[in-house]
Amino acid sequence: MLEIICEDITTLAVDAIVNAANTSLLGGGGVDGAIHAAAGPVLLDFCRTLKGCRTGEAKLTPGFDLPARRIIHTVGPVWQGGERYEARLLEACYRNSFEVALQNEVRSIAFPAISTGVYGFPKDQAAKIAVSAMLEFEDRFERIIACCFSEADAQLYRSVLETLRAKQ
Ligand code: ADP
Repeated sequence: MLEIICEDITTLAVDAIVNAANTSLLGGGGVDGAIHAAAGPVLLDFCRTLKGCRTGEAKLTPGFDLPARRIIHTVGPVWQGGERYEARLLEACYRNSFEVALQNEVRSIAFPAISTGVYGFPKDQAAKIAVSAMLEFEDRFERIIACCFSEADAQLYRSVLETLRAKQ
């Protein structure tokens, strides 16, 4: 089942939440900062052992103090105008996060809108990529949650979902 909600992702009691991290995996602003703050300092110690993560790839950690059991850290592309494989890399973030989830018995998973904050990816294009990937993996999970951080983003996701479902 695919759900679109407007919520702080750090509050969700799911098998895994996805973090929009950076290549260092050592924390940052936005959703990454919120996740590190809520998971506690042990997350940073654990992340140091992972030796970073490439753009488009995904790595798993425990959720520590979060209500979520695990965190899947993925690194979205920085928007550079659209000619630097940004769309393909963002798609890879969703696909690779889902693959890591499937390899680790994750049945419920929540995603933020990767790359659409500081990394500047156009929101409408990012929403299409996110929702398409979610529909592709829908049958393999109990719950897939698109966790938007504003009602405007949630509305955008809902309209994209409606359009893509009509094409299915
Ligand atoms: P990126 O660097 O990948 O752009 P950001 O954290 O700057 O990552 O933004 C990604 C998205 O996460 C944005 O849509 C932002 O509004 C959203 N966001 C920020 N904090 C939270 C949170 N606590 N829960 C869910 N989404 C959040």
